[in-house]
Amino acid sequence: MGGPVLSISLEAGNWSIGYLTAWFFACYIYHGLGITLGYHRLLTHKALKVPRWVMYVIVSGGYLCLMGSPIVWVAVHRLHHQKSDLPGDPHSPRDGFMHALVGWMFSMDKVQSAEELRRFAGDLIRDPVLLALGAEHKAWQAQLCLGINILFRLLLLACFGLGVVVVDILATFIVFWSTQLVNTVCHLQSAGYRLFQTRDNSKNVWWVALLALGEGWHNNHHAVPRSARHGMAWWEFDVTWLAIRLLQAVRLGSAVVLPPSRQWQMGAAPVALSEPVRSAAPRSLQQEEPDARAAVSVFAGEAVSSTAL
Ligand SMILES: [Zn+2]
Ligand SMILES: [Zn+2]
Repeated sequence: MGGPVLSISLEAGNWSIGYLTAWFFACYIYHGLGITLGYHRLLTHKALKVPRWVMYVIVSGGYLCLMGSPIVWVAVHRLHHQKSDLPGDPHSPRDGFMHALVGWMFSMDKVQSAEELRRFAGDLIRDPVLLALGAEHKAWQAQLCLGINILFRLLLLACFGLGVVVVDILATFIVFWSTQLVNTVCHLQSAGYRLFQTRDNSKNVWWVALLALGEGWHNNHHAVPRSARHGMAWWEFDVTWLAIRLLQAVRLGSAVVLPPSRQWQMGAAPVALSEPVRSAAPRSLQQEEPDARAAVSVFAGEAVSSTAL
């Protein structure tokens, strides 16, 4: 297996612009979807269902982008939804821009107890692979993640050469920080715009959405957290949603959650939707309504209340 791959890479030239550009985008999509689709829409919000092996493949992209334990990530993010921009929100810019960008990562053990973490991510703790990556705010989990990340890059180096490792590290760097930008810029009073009057400061910010594969349509996400689709208006390009549609097309994705049209009209989501937004909702949104309802009801019995999702 290794021989042909290695010879192909040598023929293509390890440092040719086209070769490395292709690798950069492949790495960006792999790591980016690992977080946006894997950690976020799949594990945290149960926005769709996939076979377990597909979940592991997708989530590995996020783990190999230094996101750390998926269980811990999910528990922190569910806490963020429950207390968005209120006291107790792990990373609101109301507590300072740098705190929301990076500082919060070093103080989570004081914000979220082990018991609370287990309660928030009880549905994932049953998975032995995810559990092996850690389920507490402990340093060893970050060290394990860093070690596996280093091993992964050594494997890339052995198989594809230094150029690929360099572009993978570059992609990892941008994807990692684009996630932190969602936490910060998309909750700033001065940034972006809102389609929904949610009770937090969440905003839609186009350039964050571009970098974070659709996650920058953050106000939409806070309005309807379980929706698999974050880009709602026609101009809100959502790469992660396209990936979900692709999974559906190849029959690897099912029970895709989209907001029922009545929910948009009646404000069952935190707030009322304006007419322009409703009209921008795609036709498929109505078509997939029954599936969405089913998936919502399936998850309604989980340990975390719907306000945390
Ligand atoms: Zn948020
Ligand atoms: Zn979320």
